[in-house]
Parts: sequence; C-alpha cells; structure tokens
Amino acid sequence: MKNNLSNIKKAIKYLNKNQCVGIPTETVYGLAANAYSSAATIKIFKLKKRPQKNPLIVHYYDLKFLKKDCVINKHFLKLYRKYSPGPISYILKLKKNSLISKNVTNKQKTLAVRFPSHPITRNLLKKLNYPLAAPSANISTKISPVSKQDVKDEFGKKIDLILDGGTSKIGIESTIISLVNKPEILRLGGIPKEKLKKYLRLDLQFNSKSKIKSPGQGKTHYSPYIKLRLNVKAINKNEAFILIKKRKKISKNYFYLSKKNNLKEAAKNLYKTLRIIKKRKFKSIGIEKIPNKGFGEVINDRLQRASCFK
Ligand code: AMP
Ligand code: MG
Repeated sequence: MKNNLSNIKKAIKYLNKNQCVGIPTETVYGLAANAYSSAATIKIFKLKKRPQKNPLIVHYYDLKFLKKDCVINKHFLKLYRKYSPGPISYILKLKKNSLISKNVTNKQKTLAVRFPSHPITRNLLKKLNYPLAAPSANISTKISPVSKQDVKDEFGKKIDLILDGGTSKIGIESTIISLVNKPEILRLGGIPKEKLKKYLRLDLQFNSKSKIKSPGQGKTHYSPYIKLRLNVKAINKNEAFILIKKRKKISKNYFYLSKKNNLKEAAKNLYKTLRIIKKRKFKSIGIEKIPNKGFGEVINDRLQRASCFK
C-alpha cells in the first residue's frame, strides 16, 4: 500500500475544495465527496453519469458523527455494535436539522449510511468534519471497481486523486438493510441475509420491491456489457467460462472465481474476473451454476442484473 499521511492530507485538500476523490473500502472503491456540500455531491452524479433520482450512501467514522444527521433506533444499535465498521449499510430517518445535501437523498426523508472498515478510509473520515457521500466509483450500471487501477480505468484524468488501498477484501457491495419501518433487506451484499436474520431473530426478507425505494436496484447493473449465459454446463466456441470448482482440463478460456467452491472467495473475485474478461475482448461469457445460498445468492443477484442490458 502506497498511502502515507501525505496522500491523506492531499485527499483532505481536494475534498475541502469540493472535489471528488477515489477511496478504498473493503467492499468496492468509492467516489467520495463532502456529503454536506451540493457543489461537491453534484460532481459525483456527473462523473458517474448517475441519474439524480438515485440517492447516495453516506460514509461515517462512527456513531457520534452519525447522530448529527440521523434518528437512531434499537435495531440499528444492535446491528451497529456487531457489524460496523463493515460491509453493511443502513437506511435511517434523516433528522430535520441535518446538513446532508438534498442531492444525496434526492429530497427523501431517509438516508443510507455506512461505516467502512478499510483503515485508510477510516483514517480519512476521522480527520474530516463532514461525512463522505461515496457510491461505487464506476460509471452507472457498469462493473464496480475493486482496485485503484479499476477506478483509473473508469475515470482516467477526470479525477485528481485515488487513494490506493490494495484490492478490496470483500469485493462486492454492502448489504443494504432498511430500518425505517420493519427491517427489510434492499440489497444483498457483504453480510449474508441468513446471518442477519439469525442475529436479529426476525423474519428478514430481501424485498427489492419495498416501499422504501432503492432506485439503484434497477434491472441493469454491475454489467460488463458482454452477453452472459448463466447456469451453463459447457461453453460455446470462443466463449469465456466462469467457474467455481477446479476442472481437470486446462484452457485459457477458463476463469476461476474459486477453485474450491468457496462462495465468499468467488464473490470477492467476481468483478475482478469480469474486468479481465472484458479486457481480453471476449464477446460472450458462460457461467456455471452457482449455489443460491450465502454469498452464492449475492453473486447470482449481481449476475442476473449484469446479464440484462440492451
Ligand atoms: P452504490 O451506487 O453502489 O453506492 O449503491 C448505493 C445504493 O444505495 C443504491 O442502490 C441506492 O439506490 C441505495 N440508496 C441510497 N440511499 C438510499 C435511501 N435513502 N433509501 C434507499 N436506498 C438508498
Ligand atoms: Mg454502485
């Protein structure tokens, strides 16, 4: 990791000037800006080509900071103590006197918040007197970035600084849980649904059609814009093959998410692998069946959306 204090100081300088900075997190890299500033947050939407109706997740250092902006409840406190900092985002009610820019929430009365665990980003957040709005650092609907180079590939010279935090450890977005009414999961992600269900002792469902709108859960997302064929046993000629179990045959068309059927490892390697396949200019990808449990359910959710494009 090439980050030292001087890079963090540089990041603070850019952020204070309402510029966007690429930041590492354990889930995926984020495109960060001062969440209290409209001038700063509007730049996120422009750079990402993100529709303005799609609200942003705001990253905080800790609970003390968050209390300025959101109403805290008992389910939140229980989850926060166990899973934060970490790969889970909470939808909470926004306080009336919150300074969060209206761009961030699309004028809704709720806010998505997260406490990332990556040490570089935690260090940065601790030194700022505002939270960071930071969606994934990719052009809207395309593959999320898991390294500094991925962010560079997305934005080139359009952003001044990307902090280097190595490859993202989880490699897939956070789980989003709404705690505004009855807890429900709006996006599958870094903490599997079953774990949260057990811990909260609630009938927790993944509800992509919730009344709490999560507009980012559109049909097309996370997409390499290459034809994807899911649940295949064999590939067509010249097709890339994504696998989760080691095969005897060796082929340069084979791309392993895991060689041991380890679904957590497979999730971590998903975006990285899709980017490699795209760089190698394959026109089609076949993917073997991935068990629909734990991290497998998250992978299948992403692949489903990645395969829907025109
Ligand atoms: P990303 O662009 O990867 O950071 O994803 C952020 C996700 O959080 C998107 O799916 C957003 O629609 C969702 N989100 C952000 N704010 C809210 C909110 N207040 N209520 C519901 N979903 C939200
Ligand atoms: Mg995203």
